[in-house]
Amino acid sequence: MPSQPTIGLLGGGQLGQMLCEAASPLNIPIAVLDADDAPAKQINRNQHHVAGSFKDADKIRALAANSDVLTVEIEHIDTEVLEQIASDATRPVAVHPSWKTLRLVQNKYEQKAYLASKGIPVAEQLAIDTTPGSFVASLKEAGAKFGFPWMLKARKDSYDGRGNLKIATGSDAELAQAEAEFGHVACYAEKWVPFVMELSVMVIRQEDAAGNTTKVLPYPVVETVHEDNICSYVYMPPRGLVGAELETVSAKAQKVACSVIEQLWGRGVFAVELFVTKTGDVLVNEIAPRPHNSGHLTIEAMPYMSQFKAQLAAILDLPLPNKLEPHVDSAIMINVLGGVGADSHQKLIDLAQSTFASKLGVYVHMYGKAAKPSRKIGHITLTGTRLSIKELETLAQPLTQLAQEIRQ
Ligand code: ATP
Ligand code: MG
Ligand code: MG
Repeated sequence: MPSQPTIGLLGGGQLGQMLCEAASPLNIPIAVLDADDAPAKQINRNQHHVAGSFKDADKIRALAANSDVLTVEIEHIDTEVLEQIASDATRPVAVHPSWKTLRLVQNKYEQKAYLASKGIPVAEQLAIDTTPGSFVASLKEAGAKFGFPWMLKARKDSYDGRGNLKIATGSDAELAQAEAEFGHVACYAEKWVPFVMELSVMVIRQEDAAGNTTKVLPYPVVETVHEDNICSYVYMPPRGLVGAELETVSAKAQKVACSVIEQLWGRGVFAVELFVTKTGDVLVNEIAPRPHNSGHLTIEAMPYMSQFKAQLAAILDLPLPNKLEPHVDSAIMINVLGGVGADSHQKLIDLAQSTFASKLGVYVHMYGKAAKPSRKIGHITLTGTRLSIKELETLAQPLTQLAQEIRQ
């Protein structure tokens, strides 16, 4: 690899943009494959970019030709072409995380079947038969097996809950709607998890050239709150867990998350989304093989090794610390979603920019995306120094309330 290797990035949305922000002061060039006005290209001009779609195999090859190593900001991509690029006889280009990881993770059913086979706790699941004439019978079988509610999930291409349908009662009307929406989609049924809290753990994975794991390092555990299947808030540390309980649940969540990431291939940062039940059990919901919404607050909470800097360090084999500890006592991330009007979110940004208090940091990140209802167009991070998560939550309340109002 040259002394200043170029990273080729498939996808130039907000994750790519924040990766470029982390790369800039380190002088690490990033070639982006996406449309010319994509968020990552808006802040990173260079001669290596490729214009086009990360779904286009020829464009991915063109990106590889401009790069020394490839990475992704999205898992919904063509892994066949990545496999060919990684094993090319004349000029192989490494792909991190490995195409094997991306191929496994992009199919949520296969992902969880694999984790279950490795002894990792996941919700029970059942394949749905989408052959015409069998679909509804298959849904009924899931209802009989799991009871109600249960979750119908697309195997591939889902994000922000687009691809999930809660089956509440199994009524004829509900099953007819499920057939209309999912009848032609490879999907599966998942047992409902009556969780008391959702957690997420970001994990850094490094390996040597032979593919042996050299480091699996977890970030502090965060609590994620989803509304309508979309992540709206992230809290560090999780609210409602104090003292010994925080220690116990955090240790368990980090242990499960690390055992998940140990089963994968390649370098990078990964998110492990978790459910916590009222008996304190931790189940894995899904993996994201890349920086993740739940890790955005690391930009300010752990500036020496944000999740984006960690992605660069993991891919380029740069030094990593032995432990990841925050520089603040608490942090909250609020997602800015588009509202009904093009400027509905502006009053939230204005309020954030006029919020000052001692020991409080407020940081606005807007991604340069057009506002559409429920589209993630930015986020706001609040950090507290010598403020508990409860105290920070109180200070954040006007912002969380306004964020909620915009979404309605
Ligand atoms: P992402 O944007 O995180 O990739 P996604 O479209 O892949 O989202 P999931 O993570 O499967 O969707 O689900 C979104 C949310 O729906 C979860 O965070 C959780 O709040 C809820 N959910 C998903 N599966 C279940 C389940 N089996 N039981 C209860 N709630 C669930
Ligand atoms: Mg997902
Ligand atoms: Mg999810």
